[in-house]
Amino acid sequence: MKPEEGIRFLRQFQELLAEGGFVATYKFALMQALADLSVEHQAAQDGSLRLHVDQLAEKFVEYYWNQARPFHDRVLRQNTKGQAEVLLRIQDYRSLSDGKLGQLQADRAAWQKLIRRVAAIIVKMPLWRLQIVGNRKNEFLYREAEYRDRSLRLLPGVPDAFRAFHPMLTSMIRGGWISQIHRIGANKPVLGAQAELEDFLFGTDRRSLERFTAVIRAHQSRECFYCGKRVTGQGDLDHFIPWSRYPLDLGHNFVYAHKGCNNAKRDHLAAVTHLERWRIQNLDEGHSLAKAFEREGLSSDLERSVLIARWAYEQGCASGARLWVRDSEFEDCDYRWQSALAAPSALRLAAEDASPRYEG
Ligand SMILES: [Zn+2]
Repeated sequence: MKPEEGIRFLRQFQELLAEGGFVATYKFALMQALADLSVEHQAAQDGSLRLHVDQLAEKFVEYYWNQARPFHDRVLRQNTKGQAEVLLRIQDYRSLSDGKLGQLQADRAAWQKLIRRVAAIIVKMPLWRLQIVGNRKNEFLYREAEYRDRSLRLLPGVPDAFRAFHPMLTSMIRGGWISQIHRIGANKPVLGAQAELEDFLFGTDRRSLERFTAVIRAHQSRECFYCGKRVTGQGDLDHFIPWSRYPLDLGHNFVYAHKGCNNAKRDHLAAVTHLERWRIQNLDEGHSLAKAFEREGLSSDLERSVLIARWAYEQGCASGARLWVRDSEFEDCDYRWQSALAAPSALRLAAEDASPRYEG
């Protein structure tokens, strides 16, 4: 594998992880299965690897087997709506085999039956959705057109990349998996203080988020940043550059939006028109915002925020990210983002022109 191929693979893999359109945790199980099977099997001469869906299903059962046990007093939910079907099936078989995976595997008929059922769910749910990024398919791992006899073909070079980066990919996958479990509301009472640990260590203080919301909501006159319509309910504070891409809690990275608009945007980068509006909010009106942040004791740093936005668009666009427009509408990322986002030096000069810099 050439170095640039490895980097390209990692970039595309990161985009898949950032794609937040999954309601169940299947995406993570599938990614892990592909990575593990690439290690456990010999690739063909051309560097490809054919995998039967039953092999994927066996991996799913392995991963979810222990997860189907109660955590404290109940089984964790692996789907935002109800329990994930694979978990339900596994729970049935756990009770049949006294919770012993080996015992179930030894009962060939029962084992085959479970594998068949799980394989059917994989084909129906995550298999053809995994490689959709912002409504578009990017088939860099395997192609739907090459699916036959219930088997898929990992493209040449893919098994190699999975082997080369296996430890790193595993921790990325597990991190994403854990975060999704945390995000599922029904798990909060079970996880309790444990769910708060990550927030406590790496998150933002809730009180400062509330103060950010107040400042930005007032600045935007209660209008949604994305659709421009008035927000009647509570509204959301949105990280303009998504938290999952760069955990940035500086004032200028926040915008105020409808809950619905914020949920639709998920972890995507916003479209060029939004980026332009973001620059205007921060360039033309940034000084009054910065003053308000300062008054409230909230941190902000316009130049740093712009540099991070620049980095995020530069990298996202190089990895094939699609930009969110509205609802489920996306656009391609092209060079236009650069003009939408003025160069940081121009930005700084404009800010200096607008008002004298204060000492400090
Ligand atoms: Zn809106």
